[in-house]
Amino acid sequence: MANPGVKKKWISEQACVSMARTCNLYCVYCHNPPTGERRGLPETAAELKRTGIKAVSLEGGGEPTASGDFFTWIKTLKAAGVRNFMLSTNAVALSDPAFCKKSVKEIEYFTVNFPSHRPEVYARATRSVKFQLAVRGLANLKAAGAEEKLRLFHIISSLNYRFLPEFALWASRNFPRAALVNFTFVRNKGRALKTPAIIPRYSQVAPFLNMALATLKMNGLKTVAQNVPLCQLKGTEGFSFEFHRWRRGDKVLEGGVDAKAACPACSRCALEPACCGARADYLQAHGSGELKASKKDPASIEPERF
Ligand code: SF4
Ligand code: SF4
Repeated sequence: MANPGVKKKWISEQACVSMARTCNLYCVYCHNPPTGERRGLPETAAELKRTGIKAVSLEGGGEPTASGDFFTWIKTLKAAGVRNFMLSTNAVALSDPAFCKKSVKEIEYFTVNFPSHRPEVYARATRSVKFQLAVRGLANLKAAGAEEKLRLFHIISSLNYRFLPEFALWASRNFPRAALVNFTFVRNKGRALKTPAIIPRYSQVAPFLNMALATLKMNGLKTVAQNVPLCQLKGTEGFSFEFHRWRRGDKVLEGGVDAKAACPACSRCALEPACCGARADYLQAHGSGELKASKKDPASIEPERF
């Protein structure tokens, strides 16, 4: 299927730096839980210097800001030539205004894992009582002038999918200038394997997700749906994260993401090159009955803002 062939951009040139080794939350859906281990800083810095990579995403199995040497890593990686930093965080540590301000000076984008604007849902999803701290962290980012650097990352699970439109309204009201709202369908791996009931069906989620995407678009926010097959995004395919990767000539699935599962519908589907497909772990939970082959040319899909 023809790819419009947009040039590769920053998305491919960014290295993931797994600097986290612990976490201050215990999310039920965590697919990369901390082990207490991580690669050393000297080796990481040396490799980045050798490869000349200038943009990194600070992440890992756990929460990067939960390590006491967070700013030491940034300083050392800067000395190794890194110029652009992105941080994956749950924002709890950003509830400290001084820590937040210092971070804003160093970080270009904050991807904040925030599973619910409802305290009771947040508590169940993260198995913590840190809702108010996370909200304060988000508010501090805004107060420090970083609202436009904020990407809200909302993992869709059985716990929160009914509230997706409400979350979209909440994000529109509180962070109207956020860079992005990313809805990612939960992956049944890591800690999530212990609680399979948190994996909803695509068909359950779809109406709520479509309404949330439309709400954010109407309110002028950029938004994407990740790890959601194109056949589940009827009329909203242009919001698909993987479709955008395909359009820009990138690999459809990010590095480190498990391959698509083999499925009869996908093998005869015209959308397959631009689709994330279903993961084997999803098929184990719910089967492939919801996947529908399409004759649509992915190049005919109108992309949404990203
Ligand atoms: S999902 Fe993120 S914030 Fe939650 S337990 Fe895992 S590493 Fe920590
Ligand atoms: S049938 Fe398969 S390839 Fe086609 S849109 Fe659905 S998941 Fe994607």
